Amino acid sequence: MAGGDTNVSTLQHFIDGERVAGESNRFGDVYNPATGKVQARVPFATAGEVDTAVQAAKAAFPAWSATPPSQRARILFRYRDLVESRRDELARICSSEHGKTLDDARGSVTRGIEIVEFACGIPQLLKGEFNENVAGRVDSFNVRQPLGVCVGITPFNFPAMVPMWMYPIALACGNTFVLKPSEKDPSCGLRLAELAVEAGVPAGVLNVVNGDKEAVDALLTHEDVAAVSFVGSTPIAEYVHRTATATGKRVQALGGAKNHLVVMPDADMDQVTDALIGSAYGSAGERCMAVSVAVTVGDGTADDLLGRLKPRVESLKIGAWDAEGVEMGPLVTREHRDKVNGYVDTGVEEGATLVVDGRDTTVEGHADGFFIGGCIFDNVTPQMRIYKEEIFGPVLSVVRAQNYEEAVDLVNEHELGNGAAIFTRDGDAARDFTNRVRIGMVGVNVPIPVPTAYHSFGGWKRSLFGDHHMHGPEGVRFFTRMKTVTSRWPSGIREGATFNFQRSTEA
Ligand code: NAD
Repeated sequence: MAGGDTNVSTLQHFIDGERVAGESNRFGDVYNPATGKVQARVPFATAGEVDTAVQAAKAAFPAWSATPPSQRARILFRYRDLVESRRDELARICSSEHGKTLDDARGSVTRGIEIVEFACGIPQLLKGEFNENVAGRVDSFNVRQPLGVCVGITPFNFPAMVPMWMYPIALACGNTFVLKPSEKDPSCGLRLAELAVEAGVPAGVLNVVNGDKEAVDALLTHEDVAAVSFVGSTPIAEYVHRTATATGKRVQALGGAKNHLVVMPDADMDQVTDALIGSAYGSAGERCMAVSVAVTVGDGTADDLLGRLKPRVESLKIGAWDAEGVEMGPLVTREHRDKVNGYVDTGVEEGATLVVDGRDTTVEGHADGFFIGGCIFDNVTPQMRIYKEEIFGPVLSVVRAQNYEEAVDLVNEHELGNGAAIFTRDGDAARDFTNRVRIGMVGVNVPIPVPTAYHSFGGWKRSLFGDHHMHGPEGVRFFTRMKTVTSRWPSGIREGATFNFQRSTEA
């Protein structure tokens, strides 16, 4: 807790179009991970404050859902331009609370803007289907209608982009929204909601409540909430899915990841090395699509790869998120850094070979920052905890497979199924891999196969609870429900009562 430090700002909620002070007198600390200092404290909402936000969203729903889709889209066009014009400001907010480099944060805001661009075209996807004369003078059509008040609960690692996977789609479809951002870096969510109102989104349509489990539980069980989108770790995703579906809500809950990159002996090893450096160590490994396991096919491939990776990982430029030329910033909190360090200790105890050890990394002038250097383990086996569990830090495990089938089995037998990639020049192997892996997002010579805005994002197995992936067409399906109307205009003709089930051929 920040105590009475006057340099520490106190954040608020954003309800019904304005910033609202928290009433609970419970707060969480928000750090600058590069300095290790608390820079803000975030209020933790009570169930009563959550209810105020939900009621604001409920009150705004009738008018917003009745607003023609093209008018909603016009507001989103303005929002897109406004967010674009504030991209650097948002990136700076994101980096200062998360620790990722400014360039990386800018890229993530751009990915969010792309979702808004997709949402601007949603009127096209809301069009229904019409069938004339399905029976005598009977017409049938279906429409997709919004659900009501929708909720988003988001993780720390993409404080702008992940909320933007959700609410632009929800709003374009006519829903209203309550966002509960991560308490570790809540300021992006607040700023994005403020900009939405500036762009013309009516008060109450997009609200932000800050908080911890108490706020989440109040949202998951609230009778006026129709749907919950969640992104975070697997245990919490499972809990969110179980709790919110028990009260009849529609839920999509995306969980953690352990993404494998299979290196075939014929792969272009320069390309593989670059791909692994970016995907394992970018954003200090705090990405759900980070590659954390390299599966080498054949010992020669492993030895070649490690020879190339080792010097690159040892020379990663580690520093504060705003320092020039930095490739990897600090982790988000001290606790998380200690947890990642603990996994490296565990790997050593389990008998894996620590090829590069980043545990004692320090950055000049930032003695209290939450830094860790890049780490590589060789000879990791599927029985080890460092293989089974998500580490969510800059730690790459190399697992040596003797042949392609062994590599595919590894990918398929892991309980998490977010992303996987194969690097090869062999089209047959690539095609077989994409066909057989039980994984939601697959790359061929692409290490982080994140679907673009107009496709949908989501994993398989314990990386996703629920049926719908996020954004793209799946997002539209998630945030709408179908209604089918059958109508007859009798033109004065009476046919009398019908007691049998009607068949179109007889009508
Ligand atoms: P987290 O699960 O700790 O937190 C996510 C959200 O849940 C936060 O808003 C948090 O306040 C809330 N929460 C935490 N504990 C809770 C509890 N006991 N009860 C109710 N709510 C609770 O995740 P995180 O550490 O913020 O984010 C990292 C995780 O998110 C990683 O596992 C990563 O793989 C995952 N992630 C997944 C995807 C994906 O698309 N699958 C994308 C980004 C991040």
